[in-house]
Amino acid sequence: MSATPERRAELETRLAQVRERLAAACAAAGRGADEVELMAVTKYMPATDVAALADLGVRAFGESRAQEAAAKAEELGDARIRWNFIGGLQRNKARLVVPWVTRVESVDSPRLAAALDRTVLQALDAGERTAPLDVLVQYSVDGDPARGGVPADGLLDLASQVTQARGLVLRGLMSVAPLGADAERAFAAIEAAGNRLRAEHPDAAVLSAGMSGDLEVAIRHGSTVARVGTALVGDRRLTSR
Ligand SMILES: *Cc1c(COP(=O)(O)O)cnc(C)c1O
Repeated sequence: MSATPERRAELETRLAQVRERLAAACAAAGRGADEVELMAVTKYMPATDVAALADLGVRAFGESRAQEAAAKAEELGDARIRWNFIGGLQRNKARLVVPWVTRVESVDSPRLAAALDRTVLQALDAGERTAPLDVLVQYSVDGDPARGGVPADGLLDLASQVTQARGLVLRGLMSVAPLGADAERAFAAIEAAGNRLRAEHPDAAVLSAGMSGDLEVAIRHGSTVARVGTALVGDRRLTSR
């Protein structure tokens, strides 16, 4: 199965628009266009969209539902793709994700970090993985437990736990600006959290921040990864192509 020619054309147009937005945002922020990576968020979207975007040169993909993502990764088996898990992950779903995922960006508790570490070590032993798992700690701007993320006061403890886990490699910080929040203030807080993390862990330089609606503000505040869904693949509520 592959995307229809019409869908391919639509994705190509949207991708060009998103790349233009990213380039303009980088230029406006006085940053190089190569400082911000595009992650295509393809949750709820069919594997044919992922394949089409990979053909158009996208390499980083984001998924947020374990079962759905595992099915897509298995169906595609595409070695060009780096899969990022960016949604809430229950500990008992770690096994579903670990065999194919490159990076989990939503690590927000010591128990989840421990479960991922255990699962990765088992997968390495079993030959299901060849490398440890890259991890971002997810930071919660407002401490609301419903949205996921660790509040500011737990961030550095969680990060040091990750650095001590043999199966995990700390790469940086991910965050989602709270709905309805002042974007300027939210991304300033996210940037500050990233800076605090990097002060202790200089190699944890990834700052995954910004989505379709707010990527310009995020890039002004140091984002290195824009996670773009809607602007790239359209409205998720209207799918099933
Ligand atoms: C869905 C999702 C995105 C993409 O959001 P859009 O507004 O569709 O670009 C980015 N990050 C996370 C964590 C998401 O769940």
